[in-house]
Amino acid sequence: MRTAIIYSEEWRRFDYGPEHPLRMERLGLTWSLMEAYGLTALPRAKVLAPEIADVGAITRFHAREYVDILRAVSAGDWVPHAARYGLGPGDNPIFPGLWEAAQLVAGGSLLAARLVADGEADRAFHFAGGLHHAMPDRASGFCYVNDAVLAILALRQRGLKVAYVDIDAHHGDGVQFAFYGDPNVLTISTHERGDRLFPGTGFVDERGEGAGVGYSVNLPLQPFTDDAVYLPAFESVVPPLLQSFAPDVTVIQLGIDSHRTDPLTHLALTVQGFGSALGRILEISPRVVALGGGGYDLVNVARAWTAAWALLNGISLPDALPASMHGDLRARGLKSLTLSDPPAELPADTRRWAEEYAAKQVRSVREQIFPFHGL
Ligand SMILES: [Zn+2]
Repeated sequence: MRTAIIYSEEWRRFDYGPEHPLRMERLGLTWSLMEAYGLTALPRAKVLAPEIADVGAITRFHAREYVDILRAVSAGDWVPHAARYGLGPGDNPIFPGLWEAAQLVAGGSLLAARLVADGEADRAFHFAGGLHHAMPDRASGFCYVNDAVLAILALRQRGLKVAYVDIDAHHGDGVQFAFYGDPNVLTISTHERGDRLFPGTGFVDERGEGAGVGYSVNLPLQPFTDDAVYLPAFESVVPPLLQSFAPDVTVIQLGIDSHRTDPLTHLALTVQGFGSALGRILEISPRVVALGGGGYDLVNVARAWTAAWALLNGISLPDALPASMHGDLRARGLKSLTLSDPPAELPADTRRWAEEYAAKQVRSVREQIFPFHGL
């Protein structure tokens, strides 16, 4: 198996601002942990830096007018109607170089898609990508350009059948929107229920439209859903659909804001639960483009994506974190210096509440989606 990882030091140049939860340093921290584990110099893994995507590549999904606005605000021009495009104080701040940052994310995911389409890698990982909320003409949820959509479009252009599995705590709304009518792209998103968390969508009855009905799949979950609730629900929905759809390539969005210590969401997964879900997807997928996503507790981001890269390479890592990383991770709040998380039990009532909701959603998916797949 050949793999590739895409990483750029360029990220250090960009900053959403001091108050923003999306910290660019999570990428450098992740890389450092991978390096400490010896995962950045594997014999059969390429390490590549992305090139920026050009306007033509980005306007395959995004409106030209929106791209022009991104370029203008990024260069410091005052655009009075920027808020109309989702830009301004709050989730999607205007910062110098935001257009170049967006081009770099898009370029990294397009490179991952190209490597896999060309057969240069069976699995490629671009952990700066996975910005799944961006819409054709609007920034949303910390995302300006939807690199996941661009990667899928590039794979489709090569005639490949694509499944997209999104395990971020937030609904992958931008990607669902892009392929809502397309039966050649199966999108599956597991996330905290939309009536409790941004972006407010991602219910089971969002099934696609026209020829695409049945190819847009959502598994919403209750706050406090932990591994013991998540993994059986995931197992009931994701593997059967992936097996039946039989994609050429699976694009996976690996947001780790589903973690129990994430400050922005209320799911309660562990790094090992996240790893189990990824492991199942890998078992079923012949080729993989893996992307990052959300994750606002930096020590979880570094551990989860390091674990993911090891899984993508079929490597099992020692659970004790490398000593050279202890100081940095402890300073950022990590108490147990292990790759996996210590067990934590939910109160019985909370567990039952999460379990009942998950069971109900699984039943709905079976009723509303499975018949379209002969299941
Ligand atoms: Zn998220």
